[in-house]
Amino acid sequence: MKITKARIYKIPSGGISPVVLELETEDGTKGLGEACIAYGAGSTAAAGMVYDILERYVIGGVSAFDGEKVWNRFYDHGFWGKGGGPVIMSGISAIETAMLDLKARLLGVPVHTLLGGKINDSLRAYCNGWYFGCTEDAQLPGAAEKAVADGYKAIKFYPFATILPEGRLLHPSLRSTSDQTVIAKALKRLKEIRSAVGDDVEIMLDLTASLTPDDTIRFCREAAEIDITFIEEPAIPGDTRALADIRREISQPTAVGERLASRYAFRDVLEARAADILQPDIGNTGGVMETRRIAAMAETYGLKVQPHICASAVSTAVGMHLSASLPNFYWQEHFPYWSRIPGHTDFVEAPVEDTIKDGMIPVNDLQGYGVSLRKEVAEQHIWAEMELA
Ligand SMILES: [Mg+2]
Repeated sequence: MKITKARIYKIPSGGISPVVLELETEDGTKGLGEACIAYGAGSTAAAGMVYDILERYVIGGVSAFDGEKVWNRFYDHGFWGKGGGPVIMSGISAIETAMLDLKARLLGVPVHTLLGGKINDSLRAYCNGWYFGCTEDAQLPGAAEKAVADGYKAIKFYPFATILPEGRLLHPSLRSTSDQTVIAKALKRLKEIRSAVGDDVEIMLDLTASLTPDDTIRFCREAAEIDITFIEEPAIPGDTRALADIRREISQPTAVGERLASRYAFRDVLEARAADILQPDIGNTGGVMETRRIAAMAETYGLKVQPHICASAVSTAVGMHLSASLPNFYWQEHFPYWSRIPGHTDFVEAPVEDTIKDGMIPVNDLQGYGVSLRKEVAEQHIWAEMELA
């Protein structure tokens, strides 16, 4: 079944700008994918990368069943695929993800069936973004309690971030950590949040590679009395040696991966025994099958895997299908309060977000990823349309 059309969307959604790809086959079947660098700077580049890869490798009657062939042609011959970073790999991620959706829909099965079948019938989700709307530290414990009251058994926080007056978080830079009050303030926040949610709720900390390794180790040692599920991105992405050094020196498990593109970047982390949990982002590491490979590599080293998800409702559904099939699945990242932001979920029909209850994501058996675009909303945000036949 030939792919004949593509539409690339840039969807305004709060502080992020998701890049969503819809591929269409000659019989009108539609499949969705997403290039997941919607936060920070880079979504226009990702949209352009999707366009360029489609123009070169998905043109002239490519079969919807040839996702692996497209991926490998791009990787082997696109030049920037080898050693490629998130912009490059998010482009091929969106295409591979959308082609897998097409394949599943053409076969009339959910994507998790193509991944070997469902191992997990429901997925535990940890709550991120529960701090949105807080404008000062004193509001954090109450916001954390609210997330727990909403059913979440785990919350993630950024202990070093500054809460800006408009409620956004500003992550610190390595160069600011000569101010030693940063660590004291982070510990105070953490203790207050732990005290508010009690001992039964898991707390994860994302350091966003914010401190130098010596300060990271110092912070983690001082935080050791507080039960922490994992420390995320304790070192600069790509500095595997620092990651391994930190892991050896602290008692908490470490997690890494949202800024590592392709199985080749993860190989270094595994060989160096530099982390306990991998967090590949399906939408920028190379797609669903690439993330499945990374998860299998992780399994052989005894690591847990939790797909990093900081994107649109399309990625929530994609992540659900992959996580359902992973024997070493750990937690699903989720931003439950984003669905209240106009634009975040209302451009798709039947968002997974609507089915989440008590912090659990029930895995459905709808065809493909189970989500499709709401045409009247999505068509307002078309970035490019392409004829590929
Ligand atoms: Mg993170």
